[in-house]
This record gives sequence, C-alpha cells and structure tokens, in this order.
Amino acid sequence: MSLAGNALEKDIWELETINLRDFGKGKHANVDDTPAGGGAGMVLRADVLAEAIDATTDEQDARPRLLMSPRGKPLTQEKVRELSRTDGIVIVCGRFEGVDERVIEARNLEEVSIGDYILSGGEPAATILLDAIVRLLPGVMGNEESGETESFENNLLEHPHYTRPAEFEGKTIPQVLTSGNHGKVDKWRHEKSVELTRTRRPDLLGDD
Ligand code: SAH
Repeated sequence: MSLAGNALEKDIWELETINLRDFGKGKHANVDDTPAGGGAGMVLRADVLAEAIDATTDEQDARPRLLMSPRGKPLTQEKVRELSRTDGIVIVCGRFEGVDERVIEARNLEEVSIGDYILSGGEPAATILLDAIVRLLPGVMGNEESGETESFENNLLEHPHYTRPAEFEGKTIPQVLTSGNHGKVDKWRHEKSVELTRTRRPDLLGDD
C-alpha cells in the first residue's frame, strides 16, 4: 500500500470528498454551463461551487482553499511544506474548461498548478498535491531525515545513489562512498548535488 494510504489507515490524515452534483441546479442537477461569450467547453457555475464550499466551511474556517488549475502558481516543495503545517486544506478540482471567475474571487480560491502541461481533469493534480503533503506529516515517513536531504530542499537536486553489487556491467561505485569517511561522503554528495543542479536545473541556483 502507498505511504499516503497507510497514513490514512493510521488516521494521520483524513479525506472528506464533496460531490458538486449534490449542489447542482435544475432537473438534471447541472453544475456547469456554456461559457459567456461563447467558445469550447463548459464552465463550473459560481453558485454551485460557492454552495459546495459553504457546506463544508464556516466563517472561522481558516483552511487554505486551493483550486487546481494550469493558470495557478506552479507548486513547489516550499509550498507543499507550508501546506503540510496547516490544520487542513480545501481542494477544488474537476473537469471543466474553467471556473466562473466570480466564485474564485468571492471564496478566495488560490489557483495552484502542478506543472506547465494540461491534464483532462483536476483529480490527478489534487492527488499529487495530497501525496506530496501527506508524506511530510509527522509519523508518515519512516526515516524522518530523508525528507531533509531530498531534491528541492536547499534548492538543490539530490546527489546520485549507489548500492550493491559493487560492480555492475563493468561500472564500479565511486570510491569515496565505500571509504567509511562520512565527512568526505557529505562533501562529495554536496558537490555532486551542485553539479547536477547546475546542468539540469540552473534556474534553481538562480543563475540561468
Ligand atoms: N482551459 C483550462 C484547462 C482546463 S484542463 C486552461 O487553459 O487553463 C481541465 C481541468 O484539469 C482543469 O479544471 C484543472 O482542474 C485540471 N488541470 C489541468 N492541468 C492542470 C495542471 N497543470 N495543474 C493543475 N490542474 C490542472
């Protein structure tokens, strides 16, 4: 089972899902309608979404309200860490061309993107956001330390990893890693991290 699934069973976090359809309008319980001004796709109605949000939150509810959307601010590990320290979040997602702008403003929805590409629906994006947050919750990761050295913490990509066998298709493990000298190992790993970040993600170092 997944880390997040295990943590759910251990009651470390819980998920309440709300079906927008329960707040739909008319005989067919419609939640969306055609875009004002014309064009492709359907737009999630402001009244429907507002009622769905109001049904699960009250005035004192300070939980961040996120709307999964390619227009949003790209998700970062820093943001994930910030969200992992809150008492919970409300995530809005669906399969719509768009969401009526008025409800985004009226209910203070913060648009979050998981990357510069388009999915057919917001659910996988929401799942990704949840997975990233849940693994940071206390008691979820076996080795608490592993969260600290990972890619993006310190704005660096992680160093390369090696394990047995000592030789694989003629390739050996860098000697420093088997030397038992922890100081040298740390230094080597840091250098490799910087090197890798410089080649693959110079934007993280701020010098692209
Ligand atoms: N017309 C929109 C894209 C709609 S994609 C636009 O151009 O901005 C359909 C749904 O998938 C959206 O409602 C959104 O919730 C979700 N989605 C698609 N790509 C996403 C991404 N990169 N990050 C977060 N959510 C995304």
